[in-house]
Amino acid sequence: MARTPLIAGNWKMNLDHLQAVAFVQKLHWTLKDAAHDENSVEVALFPPFTNLRTVQILIDADKVPFVLGAQDLSTHDSGAYTGEVSGVFLDKLACRYVIVGHSERRDYHHETDAIVAEKVQAALRNHLVPVICVGETLEQREESGPTAVSVAQLQVALEGVPADADVVVAYEPVWAIGTGQVASPEQAQEVCAALRAVVAEKLGDDAAARTRILYGGSVKSGNVASFLREPDVDGALVGGASIVVDEFAAIIRYQKHVGV
Ligand code: PEP
Repeated sequence: MARTPLIAGNWKMNLDHLQAVAFVQKLHWTLKDAAHDENSVEVALFPPFTNLRTVQILIDADKVPFVLGAQDLSTHDSGAYTGEVSGVFLDKLACRYVIVGHSERRDYHHETDAIVAEKVQAALRNHLVPVICVGETLEQREESGPTAVSVAQLQVALEGVPADADVVVAYEPVWAIGTGQVASPEQAQEVCAALRAVVAEKLGDDAAARTRILYGGSVKSGNVASFLREPDVDGALVGGASIVVDEFAAIIRYQKHVGV
């Protein structure tokens, strides 16, 4: 089954809503000038919550060919949860995706596997596609090997998910996020293949064949093609390089680097 590559830009806590307008328009024009084929790759932008409406207006007016995602959501849909953002609201803002279980949330906000699993459910019941992030620290890799932590995290996250659910998985080794220390394509492939086996075990073979599994961790225009050549890597979750227009545009146009 052909899987449309997904290039996802996680802005983290960068770019205010005015900078967001300029960034998104400039990205669009850069890709247009470069004759980018919009249908060959799906581009999702994950701005901070405060920019979602701003970017959504551009998308709604057919001004830019990107899809929208949020960086997190609440496990609850409404109520007395000060500071939380509901999946109901994200759905109304026409978000297609929501990141869950990013290592920065697991680390700084103490999100456990159980909370991540609840967020996956919150996303699905609100018609959002969860981008489920998993990945090991260097110590965990040394202790239990390259796949054990990610496999265990994904098994919990997919608990109770129906076989026909649309999910995206992102393998993000913690030691490669924002460090410039990138995994090798072979290391990414090994873990992504193991994660696809988890999707097969939990949701069945059809789901495993259609589910996109991304690599994330210091992806740049110079290395993205080497990951996307791997059979089980279907895209990239990009942090730092996703807020530099020329660099992100070059990542989106990764096919050009390998001439496919
Ligand atoms: C991320 O935060 O998801 C990420 C992969 O960051 P970076 O590309 O900066 O390593």
